Amino acid sequence: MNQHIKDDCIFCKLAHGKIPAASIYEDDDFKVILDASPASRGHSIILPKTHADNIFELPDEYCEKIFKVAKRCGAAIKNAFGYDGLNVLQNNGEAAGQTVFHLHVHLIPRNEDDGITIKYVPNTNKDDDEIKETVEKIKALM
Ligand SMILES: [Zn+2]
Repeated sequence: MNQHIKDDCIFCKLAHGKIPAASIYEDDDFKVILDASPASRGHSIILPKTHADNIFELPDEYCEKIFKVAKRCGAAIKNAFGYDGLNVLQNNGEAAGQTVFHLHVHLIPRNEDDGITIKYVPNTNKDDDEIKETVEKIKALM
């Protein structure tokens, strides 16, 4: 697939081997490396080899393939250490917790009571009219 590389992007450098990393998987389009600040042993990030700031910029062909990579690598990480579960996590924008602006998908293996906190508290209105309006506003942009 076409690859765009951004010169000053650390994840482009990692994805293309310009900076060494502990890689658990690599193909023509993706490199998967252990996270530099892991939440748990085996915590990895999937890096597309093309630069995209976020999911909105990632070409569709990469979007189609990235979940297959997440499944394959996630299963290996989970089973290598007998974890109970795995989070597949992807942040877009500073408000959503993104800190490096080259799209990446976290694979975070989990055990019961591991102390890792990845959660949200439901806090939106559940009013029927608001739900209807919410659906309409989103669908109008598809
Ligand atoms: Zn990049």
